[in-house]
Amino acid sequence: MTATTATLAADIVAALLFILSLAGLSQHRTSRAGVGYGMAGMALALVATVVVAGRDVPGTDVALIIVAMVIGGAAGLWQARRVEMTQMPELIAVLHSFVGLAAVLVGWNSYYEVESHGSAQTLIAHDLLRIHHAELFIGIFIGAVTFTGSVIAFLKLSARIKSAPLMLPGKNALNVAALAAFVGLTIWFTTGPDLGLMIAVTVLALALGWHLVASIGGGDMPVVVSMLNSYSGWAAAASGFLLNNNLLIVTGALVGSSGAYLSYIMCKAMNRSFISVIAGGFGIQAPTGDAAEQGEHRETSAEETAQLLADASSVIITPGYGMAVAQAQHPVAELTRTLRERGIEVRFGVHPVAGRLPGHMNVLLAEARVPYDVVLEMDEINDDFSDTSVVLVIGANDTVNPAAEDDPTSPIAGMPVLRVWEAANVVVFKRSMASGYAGVQNPLFFRENSSMLFGDAKQSVDAILRALTSQTPPATSPRAVQEHVGDSVVA
Ligand code: NDP
Repeated sequence: MTATTATLAADIVAALLFILSLAGLSQHRTSRAGVGYGMAGMALALVATVVVAGRDVPGTDVALIIVAMVIGGAAGLWQARRVEMTQMPELIAVLHSFVGLAAVLVGWNSYYEVESHGSAQTLIAHDLLRIHHAELFIGIFIGAVTFTGSVIAFLKLSARIKSAPLMLPGKNALNVAALAAFVGLTIWFTTGPDLGLMIAVTVLALALGWHLVASIGGGDMPVVVSMLNSYSGWAAAASGFLLNNNLLIVTGALVGSSGAYLSYIMCKAMNRSFISVIAGGFGIQAPTGDAAEQGEHRETSAEETAQLLADASSVIITPGYGMAVAQAQHPVAELTRTLRERGIEVRFGVHPVAGRLPGHMNVLLAEARVPYDVVLEMDEINDDFSDTSVVLVIGANDTVNPAAEDDPTSPIAGMPVLRVWEAANVVVFKRSMASGYAGVQNPLFFRENSSMLFGDAKQSVDAILRALTSQTPPATSPRAVQEHVGDSVVA
């Protein structure tokens, strides 16, 4: 087998491993294997790349590549070990920005290689040269949009800048004008490449990436993260064309298309238009909802909540970002076990964008060994709240906000939410009356059937568990409890 055939074979095997990885990551049970396939594919791809480089460049350059890989790998390991689960989306945004920046640098490098060193005459026929110019221009554009978009997403997700949407006058017209300018510049560049055009497209794309993400409001950030994931894939694929690296093209296309599909799923879950997201068109009207309090709230204690639970026949727990911050999933799992042992039905209602990354709550609940069959998606459980004795809202806020249904001026208007307020009793676990990620006040807190259990969610659940275990076990059978609570629900 020649070296070229061996590299090609390595590329195909690595691409297959990446496809297996995506398939594995689509289910909890197979996700570990999915990560394993991805790691194996990446290791193979890196080895193949170094081997190819070893054929084309001097040994000192290969040594430099290996040093760069060791530094990059060490930095990645260090970050992965110290990052908290709640900081994952920020980390992902930073990593997307690296892909974008790399695509820009590859594009500029390719321009200099072809234009300045005269390889155009020797390497590429005239028509192919035009295609090459278009490739590098498009690669720089996608890369630069991804770079600044991801930097803004990082700043918003880490609360370093406000998550409220930037509302420049005529923002949609600005985006369309930028796209039209890009098309014009590309045609110009393919006919007469020029350094000025390179600078113009880079600046234009950097500004567009910044504007696209800055104009999207906090509650819509999940879609932005998956959209940037998709953009970073296309940026990598564009680099693959420039570097003549088939594996990079395939991998980039896999990331680009799976990210686009994830964006589509999230758009559907949040009732947003997919086209509107790609065009950065959220928040077309300035949202008017605010974080001001909207009435009187009622406080409760861990002991009162324990009593409410002991008297309940059915309980639904709706976890959110606060459960992740408090790391309350283990006591929540313990509470679930305790209540189920007493014959009380306990289920979980998981909103598709609860927490800070897709599947965040499912991962935490699986880690705490909550049985899969009691963890239900929003659509599966939303009709059951009206027959439920008690809902425990543990660190969720935007995902249980009735304003999404009732207030058309709210920034989260139209987003499907868990209709927890339909239950007989709602207990909200949080530390203060502060708003959620989208920065809007939650009318749920002021409803008559709601009460606030202030404090860190983990400490609150621990206190409820203590109160429950110090109670004498119920003398009545679960059936009797059910009938008793059924009465009080109706009343
Ligand atoms: P929210 O972010 O709306 O609210 C979380 C609540 O948790 C806060 O109101 C906070 O109140 C409370 N909290 C924080 N720490 C603690 C603690 N230690 N103990 C108890 N409570 C705590 O959460 P949701 O999960 O309901 O909504 C997710 C939001 O994040 C949505 O707007 C979504 O669009 C957005 N988002 C989601 C992403 C995803 O992929 N899932 C990605 C990016 C954004 P207090 O401070 O008073 O305690």
